[in-house]
Parts: sequence; structure tokens; C-alpha cells
Amino acid sequence: MEGVTQTADQSPATSGAAPATDPSGAARARATAGKRVLLAAPRGYCAGVDRAVVTVEKALEHHGPPVYVRKQIVHNRHVVETLERRGAIFVDDTDEVPEGALVIFSAHGVAPAVHEAAERRQLRTIDATCPLVTKVHKEAVRFATDDFDILLIGHAGHEEVEGTAGEAPSHIQLVDGPDDVEHVVVRDPSRVVWLSQTTLSVDETMETVRRLREKFPHLQDPPSDDICYATQNRQVAVKKIARESDLVIVVGSSNSSNSVRLVEVALEHGARAAHRVDHRREIDEAWLDGVDAVGVTSGASVPEVLVQDVLAFLSERGYGQAEEVVTAEEDLLFSLPKELRRDLKAARASQA
Ligand code: SF4
Repeated sequence: MEGVTQTADQSPATSGAAPATDPSGAARARATAGKRVLLAAPRGYCAGVDRAVVTVEKALEHHGPPVYVRKQIVHNRHVVETLERRGAIFVDDTDEVPEGALVIFSAHGVAPAVHEAAERRQLRTIDATCPLVTKVHKEAVRFATDDFDILLIGHAGHEEVEGTAGEAPSHIQLVDGPDDVEHVVVRDPSRVVWLSQTTLSVDETMETVRRLREKFPHLQDPPSDDICYATQNRQVAVKKIARESDLVIVVGSSNSSNSVRLVEVALEHGARAAHRVDHRREIDEAWLDGVDAVGVTSGASVPEVLVQDVLAFLSERGYGQAEEVVTAEEDLLFSLPKELRRDLKAARASQA
């Protein structure tokens, strides 16, 4: 698994990076021994999201607003709205960007056709595609060059899938889950490889691969995991808390693939109920009826402040201080996109 430095203590732990909300004296008094909060770790921002958000922030600082961003820079409403207030303008495609303006491509990646369209309009571009998505693009190009049929496991319509498929449209076909396998037809069953979107459910993807291999026994695996370290780590962590939780609350937006997967994984691994919320305002008080243990986690595009708001909500309703359950430590960092590094370096040189 890429980027995972170690697997920490597998048992519930109370220490961790995130300061869990300390309930007020009154709330603590209301809390009973049975009302617990289990906080998954890792959760929240991954290295690719952090890099993409910092890219927009630094571009705004350096170039001044407006800075155009093609699609949501990451799939989180709070992040997008915060950047909009600072002068970012989110567009669906490059033809909405004025000629010559600066546009940033999101963490989910873009097809080569998008780069070409931007070039035709003489746009200045910064590519904030997560390096782990770029890795999948390169795999697609390589297998297409070797004339393989590429079975891309992913969700139809997701931006990342559109970007990867755009690298080799004549060689790639989408497989949207195990039930899609029966429709797959290839040219030569001895030259078939599967790749995947980075933010899928690990278990469901393995089931899709199992069915594909039944159909195509010579199916090749990707050179390394395409489901990224952050997606895998957050799923391992939510499995651990789900087993002990009556309810799991996943903080994340509805278009965040990895957040939606966390809800599914929690339900498959023992949680009686699991819900996704963008913000504490979306929590329905009725979800807490008869609930002793609440698990909390967040998708890879979610700022920690939104998780802390949820913990405060629970604390106000008599739940005890969150116990952090650590299943892995993460320390992966990506450098900023090369176009931005070049601009910042030139600015430093001109000031010197
Ligand atoms: Fe990159 Fe994974 Fe984060 Fe997506 S979820 S931005 S692939 S690290």
C-alpha cells in the first residue's frame, strides 16, 4: 500500500493528532458511561487534497483574484465555498475561462483533450492533479501503447474516470461494479488488464476483479495499487470503529466518492446505521435515539474543523470525549505543481 508508513496500535487509543472536543462541565455531567464517541484515524485531508487546496490558495496570493478552477478543486462544499470567497471562480470547462487567464485543473485529473483545449485558448494552466491519479493515467497510456484492452473499474460520470479514460479512449472501457462484468467484451482475452479509480471500496473492487478473472483468466493486475493509500486507510479505520458503533457519522460531500464509500463500508462492517453529512447542521437528532456509541470519520477532502463541529454537537448532547481509534499513521506530502513552483521561484528571484 503506497504511502502508509506504519500501522499503529490496532486497539482503541485516546491520543492522536486531532484535539477532540472536551465537553463542558454541564455536558460531562449529562454524559453517561455508555455514551461514547469513537473517532477514526486516519480521516480527513489526504496528501493530494492538501496539495490541491494549497495550490489554489498560493495561486490566489501570488497572481491575485480571480483564479479560475476547472471543476471543484476537491469534492467538498465547504472548501469550494471558502475558496470562492477568496476569489476563486469554479467553472465546468475551459471554454468558460477568458482567453489568456489562469486556470487550475482539479485533483481528480483531466484528459489530454482538456490540456489541448486550454492551449488553444492560450490559457495559463496549473495542473493540481493528484500524483496518485497521474500514476493511473501513466499506467493507462502504457497498457494502451502495448495494445491491451484496459478494464477501468470506476463510477460512470466521475471526473477522475473521465480523465483517465481520456488518455486512451479506444482501449479503455468502464466497469462500474461487479454487476457490470457480464457486459464486458474484449478483443483478445489474453491481453487484458484492469485499472481502477483511486477512491473505490476495496472490497467491492476485489469482487469486481474476481468476477472479471472468472471471465478472463489471463487478466493482468495493475503494477501497483490504484486505490490510493488514503482511501484504503480511511476504510480500514472506519471498519474498526463500525464494529463498536450503533451509528457512524461520515463527514463529507455527496459528490465525494471516498466519503460515500465510507458510509457503505461502515454499514457492511457492523454499524447499525451510517449517515453522511456535509456539516453538523445536517445531523438529524432522531439518529441518536437509543444510540450509545457513535463513530465519526471524514472523507479525504474534508477539513478537520467540520469534524470538530460534529464532535461538539455530540458533546452538547451528552456524549463523552472522543476516543481516537488509530489504525495507521500518515506522513505523505506532495510538492506543489511544477508550474506554481516555477512562478513562486521567479517571484522570489525578482525580489532578491
Ligand atoms: Fe490523491 Fe487519494 Fe487523495 Fe485522491 S484520495 S487526492 S488519489 S491521495
